Amino acid sequence: MTTGLGNFKMNGNSSSLKELVASFNAAEADKNVEVVLAAPFVYVPQVASSLRSDWAVAGENCYVKASGAYTGEVSPEMLKDVGAKWVILGHSERRNILGETDEFTAEKTVKALEAGLKVSLCVGELLEEREAGITQNVVERQLNAVVKAVKEEDWANIVIAYEPVWAIGTGKVATPEQAQEVHAAIREYLKVAVSAKVAEETRIVYGGSVNSKNCVAAAKQADVDGFLVGGASLKPEFVEIVNATQ
Ligand code: 13P
Repeated sequence: MTTGLGNFKMNGNSSSLKELVASFNAAEADKNVEVVLAAPFVYVPQVASSLRSDWAVAGENCYVKASGAYTGEVSPEMLKDVGAKWVILGHSERRNILGETDEFTAEKTVKALEAGLKVSLCVGELLEEREAGITQNVVERQLNAVVKAVKEEDWANIVIAYEPVWAIGTGKVATPEQAQEVHAAIREYLKVAVSAKVAEETRIVYGGSVNSKNCVAAAKQADVDGFLVGGASLKPEFVEIVNATQ
């Protein structure tokens, strides 16, 4: 199974998302690709109630409690209640702008899975970390917090998104070889840290300046199981990326 994830980030409004969803609903999309769109919290109900039934909706984040005095937070249970089936966790914008740690991301992962959401778990290095040659250490450190917190069977409901931070929103997409190298190393890490079964079955998608042109070569890489798309998920072009996913 491959996955086409869109992440609207903090973009769109009720009328632009209505138009976008209508264009997706009218499109011919490959049925073998599991497609998930992450919308800002306030638009999750709108997107979930109007989107084609073969695609699913995600929250872009969630908190670690079901309810309570946590002003401004949204629980996994609430996301589920308004129609989300997935949540994106550990996005670099949460880690680097909001200061969320590996451990907090792991705790969120546990709570989201317990609530019955599937998780798109994002990992990836900063430019200076790549230049220092520590990409793999960073990605493994981020993954390790989750490996320690979840059970082996939980991995069936987690998709790993490798998103090098230097490639996000910059137009500087990782080369297919760079993506493949990290994806293969993640799989090797999972084999040792969890199990051969989890290493083999866990989907690892790439994110960072993906568009309908550059996705074609990346999709052919052995360990690239789909994409997490930011900017291009706000355009009808997203369907071309879904259809290039193999
Ligand atoms: P862009 O596709 O806009 O680079 O964003 C990638 C991303 O962060 C998706 O989560």
